[in-house]
Amino acid sequence: MGGFPTRISYDDASRIVDHIASERRLAHERLAIKRVDGRILAQDLTASISLPAFDNSRMDGFALRHADLNPESGTELRIVGAQFAGPLLDQALQSGQCIRITTGAPLPEGADTVVIKEETHERDGLLTVPAGVAAGADIRRAGEDVRVGEVVLGAGSVLFPARVSLAAALGVAELEVSQRPTVAVFTTGDELVEPGLPLLPGQIYNSNRELLMGLLRAEGLEPVAWPTLPDDPARIETALRDAASAFDLVITCGGVSAGEKDHLPALLAAQGGIHFWKVKMKPGMPVLFGNLDQALFLGLPGNPVSVLATFLTLGRRLLDGLQGRAEPRAKRFARLTASWNKSHERLEFLRGRLQYGQDGVLGVAPNSADASHRLRAAADSDVLIVLGEGAQEFPIGSVVEVLVY
Ligand code: AMP
Ligand code: MG
Repeated sequence: MGGFPTRISYDDASRIVDHIASERRLAHERLAIKRVDGRILAQDLTASISLPAFDNSRMDGFALRHADLNPESGTELRIVGAQFAGPLLDQALQSGQCIRITTGAPLPEGADTVVIKEETHERDGLLTVPAGVAAGADIRRAGEDVRVGEVVLGAGSVLFPARVSLAAALGVAELEVSQRPTVAVFTTGDELVEPGLPLLPGQIYNSNRELLMGLLRAEGLEPVAWPTLPDDPARIETALRDAASAFDLVITCGGVSAGEKDHLPALLAAQGGIHFWKVKMKPGMPVLFGNLDQALFLGLPGNPVSVLATFLTLGRRLLDGLQGRAEPRAKRFARLTASWNKSHERLEFLRGRLQYGQDGVLGVAPNSADASHRLRAAADSDVLIVLGEGAQEFPIGSVVEVLVY
């Protein structure tokens, strides 16, 4: 086995993931906007109308002609109708007149100013408007939010609710979005038993499946879990090839290290291809990335916290790249509430819990249980703390990146 990058830096691994993902960019599909939540937009969205589409009232009040107002004292105007939010009435305002208007109602022809109801006095069909109303007051102008022809969302944008809502406001009923990758999930290992069944000595319950499935679903995917694979090369090969012929991405956990029962690297080298194996990160070092038949293959190490670290970093990066996500995920930072010494220079992911300090600044408390099998420490935490390559000493108060899970 050889001829592929191994023991590479996290940055190199990221570049390889980005490159392969861009080559394997998923196809687009056209979906109704009610189904695009969380998807990646595949084409620029250009406004075919302005927002607001017409001048309209910002308040409940009266539309009037500013030239009618006496700048020194109150002015009396005749109320000649009502324009509510909805179709524009066929009624132009003449001098000395005003029209009752509600928020969002189109400005009647001839009107140029709105006075709010609370500032006026109304009696017998006459309205008294105080002095001092500014010309053009309380009008929302056509195009002040979006101008027709503008690109409002670029290809590669994440469609979170405010953006889907913007598309709806522009009258768009369907959007061109990237397909979601189909993902097959495998857990491997002779020691694994499904929760609910009795354990024999030496066996453990399969906990990674729930972890990985939950993490994938949190990305908006609908992963399919396959029965756990024994550490048997022939059976592993059959099952993985079967999945690889039908899914965009096969994700496994376990079986990628250097033990006698770790069959996946050799299988991939012989039957598919390896883009890299082993990345300088802790935990998660043995992570394996390659392809098998039509599918991409991501082999995560078996320790629970390795699954978390490799999925949140390289796994999500791959999913983003396959869908053409152009905006990077927002980075988050917090201050260490305790010092940490790495005793090595590798990139390390610690578990930590976010908490606001007395000063209102976001802090993160590292969990001292840093071994990668300590699932309880992951459950007691809510982020992975990223301790970058190179530095070893992280004094209390250091600002560190955190990956929220
Ligand atoms: P491996 O990468 O297969 O050598 O596994 C590394 C460690 O993770 C071993 O202690 C395994 O028992 C454990 N492990 C592997 N798969 C799972 C799983 N699905 N659930 C819980 N622990 C696992
Ligand atoms: Mg194993």
